[in-house]
Amino acid sequence: VDSDTPLSKLLKVVEDVGKKSKATESVVYWMRMGDLRIKDNRALSLASAHAKKADVPLVVVFILSPQCYKAHDRAPRRIDFTLRNLALIKASLQKLHIPLRTITEPNRRVIPHQIISFLEHLNASAIYANIEYEVDELRRDIEISKAAREKDIDAIFTHDKCVVEPGVVLTKEKRAYSVYSPYQKAWLKTLNANIPHFLENYPEPHPNSESVHTMAKFGALFDSLVPESVVGFELDPADRAKMEQVWPAGETAANEILQRFLHTKSRSSQLAAVDPLAEGAEDSVKRSRISVYDAERDRADKDTTSRLSPYLAAGVISARACVRATMPDTKNTTKKVDGGRWVQEVAWRDFYVCILAGFPRVSMGRPFQEKYADIVWEGPVLEGAYTDNQQERLNPKAKLPLATAESHIEKWKTGWCRTGYPIVDAGMRCLNEMGWAYLHNRARMICAMFLVKHLMIDWRIGEKYFMEKLIDGDLASNNGGWQWCASTGVDACPYFRIFNPYSQSLKADPTGDFIRHFVPELAAVRGPDLHNPPPSVADKLGYPRAIVKHEDSRDRALRRFKNPGEA
Ligand code: FAD
Repeated sequence: VDSDTPLSKLLKVVEDVGKKSKATESVVYWMRMGDLRIKDNRALSLASAHAKKADVPLVVVFILSPQCYKAHDRAPRRIDFTLRNLALIKASLQKLHIPLRTITEPNRRVIPHQIISFLEHLNASAIYANIEYEVDELRRDIEISKAAREKDIDAIFTHDKCVVEPGVVLTKEKRAYSVYSPYQKAWLKTLNANIPHFLENYPEPHPNSESVHTMAKFGALFDSLVPESVVGFELDPADRAKMEQVWPAGETAANEILQRFLHTKSRSSQLAAVDPLAEGAEDSVKRSRISVYDAERDRADKDTTSRLSPYLAAGVISARACVRATMPDTKNTTKKVDGGRWVQEVAWRDFYVCILAGFPRVSMGRPFQEKYADIVWEGPVLEGAYTDNQQERLNPKAKLPLATAESHIEKWKTGWCRTGYPIVDAGMRCLNEMGWAYLHNRARMICAMFLVKHLMIDWRIGEKYFMEKLIDGDLASNNGGWQWCASTGVDACPYFRIFNPYSQSLKADPTGDFIRHFVPELAAVRGPDLHNPPPSVADKLGYPRAIVKHEDSRDRALRRFKNPGEA
């Protein structure tokens, strides 16, 4: 990690922890939005070991911050998923006599102060947390580390999100990789060279003594309730019920979904059932999803991918546990991780975290490849991403009237999407309705690239919209995915490789089930017409004609990417 990034600054600040010993009455673990689990949770495990050694209670705190969620464009679905998981965690911790205190803090700038006061109130000697790699969060943790040190409290921030943490897999020049394939090879080599370290399974916390319930400072903490919702992020009850069914909360559910991926066959139609845990008669162990993943992962009409991203993004399951599960025998350390296609996808997740940590500008609305900063987008340009001051600015060089560009954005995103490209409309309606469910990587790429290359709309507008809808919204992966599609990112799709939505549609949805389900206007259409309805068919069925022509849009995108700054 470069020496001037917020992450390296945080790591520098925490180098001094443990040098002062202070009489203690407790140890605190600060659970964050990305580590909602008890099993194999590094910071929780370390905090528990510390508390046991010092013979004091372990206390868990969770801060709900609507202001942070707004700045990060968090989806109400993601917040609801957080709360559902948190309620289960609270119940599990309660059985171990470990209190979970939930604090709602409206002003995010006050969080460091809030945390220090909490630690002082509990006379805690240490606070443990897993690192969040977003810039604001790193800066906040630096502030907390410094303030804690002044009070002789150790603030310990540990890596936990990735299989191989940022700063370990580096080029010969000791820099972060900016091309995926050599990164992935080096990642696998590093991992296999020290499996016991990288795939360590961190023990669950020790129980507190039962007497903690009657101790003045701690007993009341057990009464703290996990709220049902967060103001400004309430989920419509029907959506909530749907999300509960599709994405059940909890570590047991996450593990069942992992096991289903590893050991059962995919359904011929993924739309047969909404509930991912409801196994159909077709499931068998003959050819598991993971064994056909490489061949079938791009199918939008089949249930072929793991569907673990909401659980990985929220940390309901660790990435380590996912990789460990692909190995036949984790006790035998001569066994290696095979690095099959699925594990490679998990490595993409690590890669994007490394990019976020090593090149923090990507999370501040900047393209990774600065040469594309001046691309002329149609319609508004989004500035101040991930800050409290997001705003859309008019683009003076745009050619289309603002109203047309804005209507294109609306047709792509909100309501009953009507771009006239069935695969794009199906994907976007699926996103709006399901928050993921059937929108795996290929489908996301098709929708994202259409917005950026066909409509020439600023990728940051799409990135924000995805975050507001996705239940697995994750800054590193979402930004990485968007910048890949926009050709502005690290190791991105070259700008001249523009997806043809019709041929992509034929490949991703050969049965047409995906389109027919989400675009019922076209339910009666059979054959290739479904992917590219002729005007007479579209008109008859009330389906819109394509809002832009593929060839013309392609030419415009090629021209603008070749000459950034020119319209
Ligand atoms: P599988 O195919 O089973 O893969 C296993 C796991 O590997 C995933 O759960 C995920 O954690 C990781 N993974 C797979 N592909 C990628 C990838 N390309 N980049 C990073 N990690 C990957 N993923 C998110 O978790 N959150 C996001 O907000 C997000 N936004 C995206 C936006 C765009 C425009 C694109 C193109 C991709 C985005 N992705 C995002 C990556 C990817 O689409 C999802 O992780 C994946 O579709 C989830 O489905 P799955 O769990 O069945 O994945």
